[in-house]
Amino acid sequence: MTLPYMPDALAPVISENTLNFHHGKHLLAYVNNLNAAIAGTEWEGRALEDIVVAVAEGGILNNAGQILNHNLYFGQFGAPCAASEPVGELAKAIEKQFGSFAKMQEQFEKAGVTLFGSGWVWLSTDGNGALHITQHPNADNPMRHGLVPLLTMDVWEHAYYLDYQNRRPDHLKALWQIIDWNVINQRYNDR
Ligand code: MN
Repeated sequence: MTLPYMPDALAPVISENTLNFHHGKHLLAYVNNLNAAIAGTEWEGRALEDIVVAVAEGGILNNAGQILNHNLYFGQFGAPCAASEPVGELAKAIEKQFGSFAKMQEQFEKAGVTLFGSGWVWLSTDGNGALHITQHPNADNPMRHGLVPLLTMDVWEHAYYLDYQNRRPDHLKALWQIIDWNVINQRYNDR
């Protein structure tokens, strides 16, 4: 995917340097690896989501999962303070289920901090509109568990180490400043 913003747009929450490595090197490597792995297989030409939902664990899933996860991740950001807060149906669902937006954020950050090793923390919906905060290791995605992903934070060290070193909690807390809730609201409405 092409970034929908300039590489310095998310600073200082995510620096241009981190974005250049994360989007320009790590994600590119997953794309190149997947293309090599699916060449000549039944998965060649299939949609990324179809591969992630259906393929067995292994190299194809690892790379397809990481591409899908990063597409959702990079696609949800905007310049610091751009947006804000959830609105509409999503705001109502968050309040109903977690008590408040702040309590949801707290629970989400805790899930990110306590995820051991590399992985992703997610806010997803089950299609009935109920919300779920889940942790998944490595390249796993909520779609493999019957959920529709809405919001994610990458807790692989490559996502934050250049800017925050070992301070994963600080990184997760700062990420709220660049979440574009218009994107998350839209994902919820499209579920
Ligand atoms: Mn990453």
